[in-house]
Amino acid sequence: MQTNLKNYVNGKFIESADSERMENINPATGELISTIPLSKKEDVDLAVAAAKSAQKGWAELPIEERANYLEKIANELEANMDLIAELESKDTGKPITLARNVDATRSVANFRFFAEAIKTLPAESHEMPDAINYTLRKAIGTVGLITPWNLPLYLLSWKVAPALIMGNTVIAKPSELTPMTADYLAKTIHKIGLPAGVFNLIHGVGKDAGQAIVENPSIGAISFTGGTETGKQVARVSAPLFKKISLELGGKNSSIIFSDCDLDKTIAGVARAAFLNNGQVCLAGSRILIEDSIFDRFVELFTQKVSEMNIGDPMQPGTELGSLVSKQHLDKVRQYIKLGLEEGGVILYGGKVPKMPDALKNGAFIEPTIISNVETNSRISTEEIFGPIVTLHSFNDEQTAISIANNVDYGLAASVWTQDIEKAERISSKLETGMVWINTWLHRDLRVPFGGVKSSGVGREGGRYSLEFFSETQNICIKY
Ligand code: NAP
Repeated sequence: MQTNLKNYVNGKFIESADSERMENINPATGELISTIPLSKKEDVDLAVAAAKSAQKGWAELPIEERANYLEKIANELEANMDLIAELESKDTGKPITLARNVDATRSVANFRFFAEAIKTLPAESHEMPDAINYTLRKAIGTVGLITPWNLPLYLLSWKVAPALIMGNTVIAKPSELTPMTADYLAKTIHKIGLPAGVFNLIHGVGKDAGQAIVENPSIGAISFTGGTETGKQVARVSAPLFKKISLELGGKNSSIIFSDCDLDKTIAGVARAAFLNNGQVCLAGSRILIEDSIFDRFVELFTQKVSEMNIGDPMQPGTELGSLVSKQHLDKVRQYIKLGLEEGGVILYGGKVPKMPDALKNGAFIEPTIISNVETNSRISTEEIFGPIVTLHSFNDEQTAISIANNVDYGLAASVWTQDIEKAERISSKLETGMVWINTWLHRDLRVPFGGVKSSGVGREGGRYSLEFFSETQNICIKY
């Protein structure tokens, strides 16, 4: 059934000023699931006015009260995880099991985590012979949160929870492709009675609604997760306005496999890193670097593993690979497969649109694809595809593996697979990435810094890093 979503501003669900709408499609079936308001500057201005007037009262609440609100949101989301998973699966095309185990579960955890994390944020003080300094952490004011389509509620809640707990009021804009769970979050927030104006949700496209949020001079910080090109635009607009910005951008991440790895565990881990959510994960291990002495054996086992992945109806619990997020994204992914062939690549597995049952024949499905024989500096091996395509490369020593891994513009994450932990640590420290996993991938502790270097972004999220981003420090020095 189709729903007409509304903006959530000052505690009310409202139409955009000009009532223009756009359609939101289930990418697995091609069905219309909702329409969203195509919001513009005046809609953002209205939300900012509400957020500004609510901010002082919100920031003045005791931290425990703000934490209680976050707990209530977490409890309410937790009670409705099946519905969240269904909305997320229909919006993104991802398997329902993944949507429940990752997206819904993690969204609940984010609110609960930040409700607790604030209580352990260390206070800073510095004593001098004749004075004492202490540092306050104050809310910034009103902040803008802009998020992508791959992990819609997971990434939105990862920003909303720390922003609110620090006493800020929020203007959030989800991707126009995946608005359903942001709308559900607004309904949840409304239901638990968060004061009006503290959380505001604006639907629409990036160039209008997103840009208007970044341009609004009353918004003191922008936390943005999305593509590197959009990140550049956000940075360009924010800089002269002296906004704080956090940019979590794209990635092209290497999985580095040594001959002394535990091969069975490595095959399973590297396949997960490559194809979870159809490779539509900023951390996806899409370049697989393999020590030459085990290259052939790895290829044989890895291809076997990938060939067993079950592509199908996202709503079926056994499905491992659903559809991509849109037909447009499917076209982009197919262009990259074509490019890989033009660059001399050989497709070892996949590369085609699979035959799907009638109900899914309009879906954005593609086989998981393994390409070998391309240069390590080819476009297919160095550009972010954000789809289920991996390239395989061999190396013969540590230094070569490090050079190949670092030879990309991005610097988000890497994984290293070996039983020699000393070697793994030595290599990790030389990798130009914000994060490295050893013998695992996407093993997350919410306290640790998350983010990248080079074209993968600026700043870190997670634990105290998020709390620090969403606050301003003020030092107070008392002379004895
Ligand atoms: P995107 O096209 O950059 O969009 C991200 C968000 O920015 C969307 O809400 C988009 O709105 C909005 N936007 C677009 N133009 C804007 C502008 N001029 N001003 C303000 N906002 C604007 O990215 P995407 O395709 O949704 O997501 C995929 C990218 O996200 C990949 O590169 C992936 O690596 C990256 N990502 C990074 C992380 C990380 O933590 N590093 C995590 C997940 C994803 P509309 O889409 O509604 O137009």
